[in-house]
Amino acid sequence: KTLLLLGSGAREHALAEKLTRDGATVHVLPGNAGIPNSHPEVNPLDFEAVQTFAQAHNAKLIVVGPEAPLAAGITDFFAGSDIKVFGPTRAAARLESSKVWSKDFMRRHGVATALAWQFRSDNIDAARTKAAELGGHVVVKYDGLAAGKGVYVCSSLEEAEAALDELQTQFTGWFSFLLEEKLTGPEISIIGLTDGREIKMLATSQDHKQLLAGDQGPNTGGMGAYCPVPFANDNVLAAIRRDIVDPTLRGLQNEQFAFHGFLYFGIMLTPSGPKLLEYNVRLGDPEAEVLLPALDSSLLDLIEATLSGTLAKQTVRQRPGAFVGVVLASGGYPAPKFPTGFPITGLQNLPAHTRAYHGATRQDAHGQLVTNGGRVLVLTAHGPDLETATARAYEACAQVTFQDAYFRTDIAQRPEPVLTA
Ligand code: ATP
Repeated sequence: KTLLLLGSGAREHALAEKLTRDGATVHVLPGNAGIPNSHPEVNPLDFEAVQTFAQAHNAKLIVVGPEAPLAAGITDFFAGSDIKVFGPTRAAARLESSKVWSKDFMRRHGVATALAWQFRSDNIDAARTKAAELGGHVVVKYDGLAAGKGVYVCSSLEEAEAALDELQTQFTGWFSFLLEEKLTGPEISIIGLTDGREIKMLATSQDHKQLLAGDQGPNTGGMGAYCPVPFANDNVLAAIRRDIVDPTLRGLQNEQFAFHGFLYFGIMLTPSGPKLLEYNVRLGDPEAEVLLPALDSSLLDLIEATLSGTLAKQTVRQRPGAFVGVVLASGGYPAPKFPTGFPITGLQNLPAHTRAYHGATRQDAHGQLVTNGGRVLVLTAHGPDLETATARAYEACAQVTFQDAYFRTDIAQRPEPVLTA
């Protein structure tokens, strides 16, 4: 079975590794220096080029890693052809690509979420007034895709004012944005495969979005993840199912969306129950780098069952124990500019319980593996429990390195939260 996988990060490395283990021949477009069978010459947003490549390699399945090709309509492009795309149509991808549309969808279908107010860039003053009414405890969200840079979490009026100013300098032209009530509570990522009716869940996981230990500093693409989440007990999961997942699936059916793919629910467990912060229409990154090594069942079978409408018959088995992934980032990330091109050492002879997933790496003119961006590698370790897996991941962080390497030292070590609802 030959398939194409689109994307170039550590998530795609984990996907490629898993699908290969499941027996597939995987070509990655464009891939990166650490992913076997990468094809840097193919741009995944050039659908004609993807089609030509698929035909030349007799590939009948395309698995999409990142959101951009989905938001640009790759599923619609191949609709009606003999090539199937695992991922939603462009219309359904608005669950992620438009925060305004997504919030309206949640409201239409009674999905538990934060209160929100919509504004336009030509009426920032109305947003200032609303932010003041809420005492500055708001989250400002740019409507479109912004790679994690369009969300400002504020705790005072000054911060809210600064966020609204920042929005105007970051984004030009006419745009919409949301002001949301600021919620509190631990966050959890719930990710499943869905055909729009049925959903099969992967393990529960938690991301660490902020740059610095103790969840301080600027937001990033994610600095580490682990699974499964110990406090996600049956009660918590039942409430999430009832208040968020089931209303979402009913909504997809009511609006007749073609959705075959990964669906991600970013959830906050607030004192008044679980609330949905956002949907993603793909696997999370770095969540994928712990969820995929944790998945014992064949992902290839699950994907094919999703596409052929037989997902209900599938069971999802997880490997026992815990998985912890720590991101090794370039010093200076997530600022717009920082030095790269540093040689990476220590990747040889990692123990069998540890994996190194390549994100921003490349080979230089001498064939040396060097850094090539912000999130360079994800080091994922398996252990019988969370403590052991965490210790093993940090042993790998002591072995693999490059100049100015930075990683958070507290991944998977948040204190167990007290759940009040
Ligand atoms: P991603 O990079 O995961 O796609 P994003 O940039 O699309 O994220 P959100 O997930 O909506 O943005 O928000 C990013 C983070 O901001 C959340 O993980 C959460 O920590 C915080 N956040 C978002 N909405 C709220 C809210 N209503 N109350 C409190 N915190 C929030």
